Parts: sequence; C-alpha cells; structure tokens
Amino acid sequence: MRKSGIAARAFHALRQLHYSVVLSNTSVAQKLFEIRTLMELAGESFYKYTAYERAAASVENAPPLGDLVAAGEHLKLPGVGKTIGGVIEQLVRTGTADQLEELFLRFPPTLLEVLGVSGIGTKTAGMLFSEYRIASLADLEAAIAEGTLLGVPRLGSKTIENWKRGILAYRGRQRRTPLPQALAIAKVAVAYLQDGPPLERLSFAGSLRRCEVTVGDIDIVCTSHDAGDVVAHFARWPRAEAVLAEGPTKASIWLSGGLQIDLRVLPDHLYGNLLQHFTGSREHNIKLREYAVRKSLRVSENGILNLENGDVTACGDEPGVYAALGMQYIPPELRTGLDEIDLALANAIPLLVDGKDLRGDFHMHTTYSDGDDTLAAMIAAAAARGYEYHAISDHSGGRGRRFGMDPATVRAQRHEIRTLSERYGIQTLCGSEVDILPDGSLDYDDAVLAELDIVIASVHTAVGQSRDEMTARLIRACENPYVNIIGHPTGRRFEGFPGYEFDYDAVFAAAARTGTALEIDGQAARLDLPGALARRAKTFGVTFSLDSDAHRTADLSATQFAVGQARRAGLTALDVLNARPLEDVRAFVAQKRMAA
Ligand SMILES: [Zn+2]
Ligand SMILES: [Zn+2]
Repeated sequence: MRKSGIAARAFHALRQLHYSVVLSNTSVAQKLFEIRTLMELAGESFYKYTAYERAAASVENAPPLGDLVAAGEHLKLPGVGKTIGGVIEQLVRTGTADQLEELFLRFPPTLLEVLGVSGIGTKTAGMLFSEYRIASLADLEAAIAEGTLLGVPRLGSKTIENWKRGILAYRGRQRRTPLPQALAIAKVAVAYLQDGPPLERLSFAGSLRRCEVTVGDIDIVCTSHDAGDVVAHFARWPRAEAVLAEGPTKASIWLSGGLQIDLRVLPDHLYGNLLQHFTGSREHNIKLREYAVRKSLRVSENGILNLENGDVTACGDEPGVYAALGMQYIPPELRTGLDEIDLALANAIPLLVDGKDLRGDFHMHTTYSDGDDTLAAMIAAAAARGYEYHAISDHSGGRGRRFGMDPATVRAQRHEIRTLSERYGIQTLCGSEVDILPDGSLDYDDAVLAELDIVIASVHTAVGQSRDEMTARLIRACENPYVNIIGHPTGRRFEGFPGYEFDYDAVFAAAARTGTALEIDGQAARLDLPGALARRAKTFGVTFSLDSDAHRTADLSATQFAVGQARRAGLTALDVLNARPLEDVRAFVAQKRMAA
C-alpha cells in the first residue's frame, strides 16, 4: 500500500509537467471534493472543508471552467472565493493543485476509496489507516476476507457486513449512468412498484428528474398508507443484486449493472415536501434553506417548520413549497444552485420549452444512409407523432461517407419524399446531415445544398484536430450560407469520447452572428449540447434546434432528452427553431441564404 501511494504521487508529479492539461468541470469538482475529504481527515475545521464541498457543487453546474478561468469569471461562481478560486485555476491549468499534493503526502490517494464506502467516516478511515495500514479498497477487502478486523473494538460483525455492502455500492457509484439508460431502468422499477401494495403518488426525484446528463443513482419517491409494505415489496425486487439499506420508510437497492435505486415513502399530505427535498440539487437545497432561515423557516422533507411559533406547513404538492417560501415555482431542471432562487424571488423564472412545443424534428436517418427504417416508415412515424413538419436528414456522401448519399440519390429521395409526405399528411422537408470536412468546407457543393430545404452540418471525421483548427472549422461551417444547424456541436459520446476541443464561446458567437442554429441532439448516446453549454450559448443569442437524430422510428422520442437539456439551459419556446411554425423555419433558412 505504501507503494501505491508513491506510484500515485509520481503520477501526479508527471501530470504537473503537462501544464496545458485542461480538466473538465466534473473532474475539477471531483478533485475539490477530494480536497474536502482529505482536509476533514487532516482535522481541519468544518467551516474550512465544507467550503470546498460547496465549491465542488457550484463548479459542476457552471459553464466550462477552461473558458471561465481564462476570463477570470470563475471567481464569480457561488461559493468560490479567492483561495478556492486559485485552487480551481491550478486544477484547470495543471490537472492538480498544491493543496491536493500536500494532502497526498500525508494520505495516499487510494484512501479516498475507503472513505467513499458508506458507513466509513473519517474517524474510522483514519483509524484503519494508522493502525491497520488499510490504504485502499483492495486493502479493506483483503482485511475483511482474512478476518484481520475481527475483534477490533467497536467493529461488530454487523458493521463489517454493512461495509461489504458499502463496498458494492461504492463500486457501483464509480460509474455514472447516462440519463437515457437510467430512465429506462427507472421505468422498469416504477412498473414493478405499481404492481405491489397500493400507492397514491409516485415520481422520480434526484438527478434523473433534474435531467442531469448522467445520474449517480436513481431516486424514487412515493406516498402510501402502507409505507412498510411498499418498502418490503421494493426490497424483494428480483432484479436487486443487494439490499443496501431497509427501514420503515426507505430502502436502497443495488442492481447488477452497478446502479443504486433509493426509494422514500411518506404520507400523501407531505408529497410536495418529499418531492422537493429529494429532487435536490444539494446546492439548490442549501441555498433554499439559507433563504428560508432568514424568514425563520426550516425546510425539510417533513414540512416547513416556522421557527418562531413551531407551526409546520405540509405541502401536498411541490409548487406549494415554493409558494410557502414566497417565491415563484422553480422547475426541477433549473435547480442547480446558480441563480434560480434570485430569479424566482424576482418572478423572473422563464416559461421553459416543453415537449408539447415541438412542431417538428429536423434530424432523422433512413435506410438511404445508416438508418434502420425506410423513408416511408420514418415519415409515417413522424406523422403519427403529430408533427406539423419534419426533415429527413440522411448523411452526405459526396467525398466522405461510405453509406452516404451522392447528389443523384439526393434528387431521387426528394421525389419519393414528395409522394410520401402527401400520403401521410405531413410536411416533410428535404434535408441532409452534411459532413463538415477538416478544413471547414462541406461535403456537398453549393449547387446540391441549394436544392435542400434545410441543412444540418456535423463533424464526424478528423475529430482529433487541435483546438484552433477545430474552432476555425466550425466557424467556417457557420459562415456557409446553406448551413442552418450545427449537428451535435461538441461530438461528445457517453461511450468513450469527451468531444472535440474548440473555443466554445467563439463558435457560439459565430452561430449567433450568422443565423445558424445549434443543435441539442437527444440521441441516447449523445445529449449534445448538454444543458450547461446550451445555457452559455443562449447568452450569445443563439437559436437552438431540439432533435432526435433517430436512426429508427422507435428513437424519434429521443427529442424528450433534447428538451430536458434545453430546460436545464433555461430555454423558452422562442429560442427553439422547431417550436416555430413552418413558414418561420423557411424564413430562417431563406434569410441566411439571402444575406450571403
Ligand atoms: Zn451525426
Ligand atoms: Zn445524425
């Protein structure tokens, strides 16, 4: 274990040499949290280490830190003062920080794993480390297996059993699950719950309800007269690999895929308080409680307590909670701890775009390129969704793609589209998802582009270009008079690709200036732009298009995920191209072509 500490320090020292490392917000938040944990272990004051916890939450919901730090704007984030601001800057620029390195000289980084096991606090971890040299999860597992810890005072066999489950859960938490995947699992869990003892109301809560791009665990809240029966039924779910905790009103289970589901059951008159409390985010709830205390109120899942007269207000629905605090209702997607409470107090929370606002979808593929379903099937399915219009946007293949369409096929497809759209009673636009070539030019000539009703341009190749090259490439695409939408603008994919590197602000500004929409691609593997970036893009005055990027009819519903990210960005229907009538969409396209 000593060796692993040294190896980790050497690794960190190496990282420091690469001073151009740019950490993502999530990684910075994680490191701030590590500092917090190690500070507690080192015996620092509560006040000092919780400051890092708050900063971590704040960073997670902020626009890209690379840009913020460059502009010195990270110091304006809630909970980020001069000291922590300096740490953040170091983390972003070098991948580590002096403070973290100093703490790692005292405690090996792997000790953080041990601290991540529920039921092991800093005191216990400190004891395990100093007395038993347990410095990693592997050490702990070995010690449990070998019986080293048997007979240690205050460590009963029940505690050890709890730790074993805690280790399972910790390993599960190491992976965050993409929102679409988590939602699919959550729906199965809900179906199972609804098959059991009678429930009154039920909802998802937590990061799933807030539409975070990835979720750590699934939170479900419900109300019932028979909380005990509901909890027992839940804990017996055959899909549960382990029951991590079970009490009179709550249970946590662990699924074999490594995902944890927490269930809370309360009486129905507290449904609003329960849902509000467990929807979070942690940072939002901290701010809400701080505000409430100034009004002599204490907010919790058990109601709102008036600290002056002891009265408790139970809220049957969630808007009631915010009303009782004297503010406008805040939709879950906006509960990030940024500025939403100030906005709500000023009655300035916008009416967010909703799935019902979408009149169409510009991004879908057919068997003409890499889709699984035929043109007829996709058009029929779009019509069945009740859309006024939609676009077929198969891949280009002028110079690039194996499975793309050459210009002759584009024309053939257009004929077929005319017949089919009439048959199914929907306005089908002839679109294309055209590759943006490495130099920023497009895969089709202008003559071909001019024949299309709407053009999505996307980067699919040469994704490893330098930041400057990629920035120039995307800006050049925006400047093309035929490009109406930049598809999946960052290229991020849950499986293994974090997205291309480019100057977000420069591209957002170019999109706004040239009348080019940026896509929020709802495809389950993408969610691109994610909410935090779209929020930043909105400040530049960008228009957005919320698309499914469906490759089969069943995936047309993926626009729901695009809507979720749009709501996290605070977008209204006015910001969204496909929430506008078709003539406005045509005007959007025509205006850009005319300006050229
Ligand atoms: Zn694409
Ligand atoms: Zn596509």
